[in-house]
Amino acid sequence: MDYIENTYKELFLKQQSNLITVGKTSYDERIKILNRLKKAIEVTYRNDIHKALKDDLGKPKLESELTEIYAILGDIKHTKTCLHKWMRNQKVSTPVSMLGSSSYIKYESKGVCLIISPWNFPFNLTFGPLVSAIAAGNTAIIKPSEMTPNSSALMAKIVSDVFKDDEVALVEGEVETSTELLKLPFNHIFFTGSPKVGKIVMEAASKHLTSVTLELGGKSPTVIDKTANIDKAAKKIMWGKFLNAGQICICPDYVLIDQSIKSEFIQACKKWLQHFFQNNPKDSNSYGRIVTDNHFERLNSYLENAQKLNAKFEVGGKSDASSKYIEPTIISDLKPEAALLEEEIFGPILPIVTYESLDMAISYINSKERPLALYIFSKSKSNTDKIINNTRAGGTCINNTIIQYTNHNLPFGGINNSGIGKSHGFYGFEAFSNKRAVIKQHTFGVTELLFPPYTDFKEKLARLTIKWF
Ligand code: NAD
Repeated sequence: MDYIENTYKELFLKQQSNLITVGKTSYDERIKILNRLKKAIEVTYRNDIHKALKDDLGKPKLESELTEIYAILGDIKHTKTCLHKWMRNQKVSTPVSMLGSSSYIKYESKGVCLIISPWNFPFNLTFGPLVSAIAAGNTAIIKPSEMTPNSSALMAKIVSDVFKDDEVALVEGEVETSTELLKLPFNHIFFTGSPKVGKIVMEAASKHLTSVTLELGGKSPTVIDKTANIDKAAKKIMWGKFLNAGQICICPDYVLIDQSIKSEFIQACKKWLQHFFQNNPKDSNSYGRIVTDNHFERLNSYLENAQKLNAKFEVGGKSDASSKYIEPTIISDLKPEAALLEEEIFGPILPIVTYESLDMAISYINSKERPLALYIFSKSKSNTDKIINNTRAGGTCINNTIIQYTNHNLPFGGINNSGIGKSHGFYGFEAFSNKRAVIKQHTFGVTELLFPPYTDFKEKLARLTIKWF
């Protein structure tokens, strides 16, 4: 352990001694670094990435392209387009009472950053934050998930190929590795993972008062009201729920539906599942697998728990441990204490909860932790506004699922239990930057009139200044 501790410390100190140099890099230099990463992902390692994702998650090739490779290349492209503007000092106005001075915000690098990533989109959720860290002029140590070993090993290779270790380094390992890394006085920690581990990270960060971005998870509700286009809702929910076999932080965790349209919705879901994955999703090359035996067991226990509580299996329910396969499954009539309604599912099982009034649906959402995503399917503006105005969520998508993640101009992140801080585009750059407040005195400053010794005249002047300026 001492050896490991010393190795990480050495790496950390190496990056620490380089942080001012990296922080001073110009727009052109940062673009050059991003281009190196781009080339590695787009060209050199593209096929290896497909293979690693297939081996780790049974990920279909097109899904790997869209949700991993394209996502990172999209981040780099957007950053390259906007970075010049983001890096510029941002002038702000200065009050008349401070006549003779001017002010601006300087976006400067935070320093040495730690990026801890999860397994569900291993490349995207590791290199995505890294793009922001580089754009903001930081050095970074990365700790990817041990659950996807092929992807982690490949990322280690990519990082050592593209970067010097005093710029960016990747450390593979399990919980002990994170624990050791978290002892170091990083300048920022960007963590993506579960709320449970997020709390551990935040506690460790508090020892050094390190700032954190926590991209967490939870149960994302999907409300369907009577006015919704049911067929379109079913199509988009079946896509968003069963992409990556439901192992997505923002996938619809459960559906809250007006009871009068439940059976029509389930019929439409069956139709779209058949269209997406044909009769047997196990044979479909468009459907993924569960990441590990432990996660398979966890999900299987939810199915057993639902069976024990006499819930109704509307679709699916079959599983196969040897191939870590769980059929796309829809379950209704669940008792409130069912594990599927209590825990974040993070797998291909969709519980359906019915409501009699929109107020009931809103109360149900508000009885749970604040979600990362809240989906609304409705044609009614007043219903949509009512749901948005009476709930809180990291993000909301109306009449679709998942796509809020893909707009670089929107901040991505949760609220409270689903996360702290935002990422993507400018918001990612901001997360990895210190907004230094700079004010410059050019000429005689009015404030000097109020310096000691204090007199009656200065007191009157202060009153006048407060009143008029
Ligand atoms: P996790 O919290 O178990 O692990 C995430 C990372 O933390 C891994 O690298 C892991 O090695 C490390 N880790 C695990 N235990 C630790 C400990 N005790 N101390 C320090 N580090 C530890 O999460 P996961 O299973 O990899 O991913 C699933 C969770 O992540 C879900 O809750 C999901 O909603 C969430 N998630 C969120 C986002 C987002 O962008 N908000 C994206 C993907 C996943």
